[in-house]
Amino acid sequence: MSAIMNTYGRLPVTFTSGQGCWITDTEGRRYLDALSGIAVCGLGHAHPAVTAAITEQAANLIHTSNMYGIARQQELAEALTRVSGMENVFFSNSGAEANEAAIKLARKYGHQKGVSEPAIIVMTKAFHGRTLATLTATGNPKVQEGFGPLVPGFIRAPFMDLAAASAIAKANSNVVAIMLEPVQGEGGLATASPEYIAGIRALCDELGLLMILDEIQTGNGRTGTYFCYQQLGVMPDVVTTAKGLGNGVPIGACLARGKASGILQPGNHGSTYGGNPLACAAGVAVVNTIVSENLSARAAQMGDYLRNALNEALQNEPQFDCLRGRGLMIGVVLKKECPGIMAAALEQGLLLNVTAGNVIRLLPPLTITESEADQVVSTLATLIAALNE
Ligand SMILES: *Cc1c(COP(=O)(O)O)cnc(C)c1O
Repeated sequence: MSAIMNTYGRLPVTFTSGQGCWITDTEGRRYLDALSGIAVCGLGHAHPAVTAAITEQAANLIHTSNMYGIARQQELAEALTRVSGMENVFFSNSGAEANEAAIKLARKYGHQKGVSEPAIIVMTKAFHGRTLATLTATGNPKVQEGFGPLVPGFIRAPFMDLAAASAIAKANSNVVAIMLEPVQGEGGLATASPEYIAGIRALCDELGLLMILDEIQTGNGRTGTYFCYQQLGVMPDVVTTAKGLGNGVPIGACLARGKASGILQPGNHGSTYGGNPLACAAGVAVVNTIVSENLSARAAQMGDYLRNALNEALQNEPQFDCLRGRGLMIGVVLKKECPGIMAAALEQGLLLNVTAGNVIRLLPPLTITESEADQVVSTLATLIAALNE
C-alpha cells in the first residue's frame, strides 16, 4: 500500500526534470509536454525568469505575514490590475481558494443589499474546484457523490442558454451573482460565445448581479488574450485565476472592480500563505514575461496553427468530430470515448489528457514552436487512427 492517500489515478511514469516543452522521466526518456501540468507551466518548464525570481526571493525572504506590508504582493497586484483592467486583488494559494473568495464576496454583496439567503447561478458541466463550496458550484454529479450535504446557495443553469439564466435570475429574487467559465476546461472545452457572454453581462447589469468569471484555466495568456474576457468584449465584476499565474508555484487570485472591489474588509477573509513573497515573485516574473514577450498573442497564433494542422490531419478520420476551445486551450472532440488515449500518448512520448470522456485536451506551453506543434499533431493523428482498429 502506498504512503500516499489514494486520491489520484496515476500513469506509471515519474519525471525528474524539464526544459521548455520537454520533460524527462527517471529512465532518461524525453516527452513532449502538451499539457503543461494542466495549463500551469505556460512559460514551459524551468523558465529562466521564474527560476531567477524564486531563487533570488528564496535567498532573501520566503514568508512574512499578511499582518505586514508585502512589497512583492503589491507589485503583483499592480501588474495584474494593469493587465486586467480590474481594480484590486485578493491572493490565495490555489484556484479553488480564489473561487471561495469570489463566492464569499458575492454573498456579502447580497447581504449588503438585504438578501438574507443569497444564491449564485452556476452552469452545467462547470468546474470550480474541490472544496465544499466550489464542489457544489461544480456541475458534475459524479465528483459530488458521497460528499453531501453540499452547500446551499447555488442554482444550476444550462451553459450557453441565456434565456434559461435570465428566467432563473428573474424568478429568484435572492440571486446575487452569475459565475461561469469562458471555456469549460474540465467540462469538455465547451466555449462561451461573445453573444452569450455579452448577454450574461447585460443580465447582470439589468438585475444588479455580480458577473464572476472563473479564468483559473483560461487566464494568463492561455486563450490568446491575457484574460479570455478581453477577446469577448466584456468586463466582469469579479475574475479568478490561478493555474498559469505561478508557472508551478502555487498561487491564486481573485480580482474585483467597481462595486465588487470594496466589499471584503479587514476580518472578512484571509489566508496565512496567500500572496507571500515567494509566490508573488513567481507571479511577477510570469506576468512580466507574458507581457514583454507577447505570449498571449503567441498563444492565439500558435492556437490557429495547431487548429489548422489538426483539422487537416484529422479531416478524414472517422472518429474525429470537431475542435473546441480558444487559443492554446484546444479540445479534440471524438465521436466515441477514448479512455486509453492518455496512456497510449505517453507510450508515444506525448503528454495530454482527456476530459468529459471523449475530448482530448491540449494545453501546451505558450512558447511551443511550430515544429513541436507539428510533432503533437502527427502523434495525435496516429493515436486517433489507431482507435479504428
Ligand atoms: C483547476 C481549476 C479550478 C481549481 O483549481 P485548484 O488550483 O485545483 O484548486 C477551478 N476552476 C477552474 C476553471 C479550473 O480549471
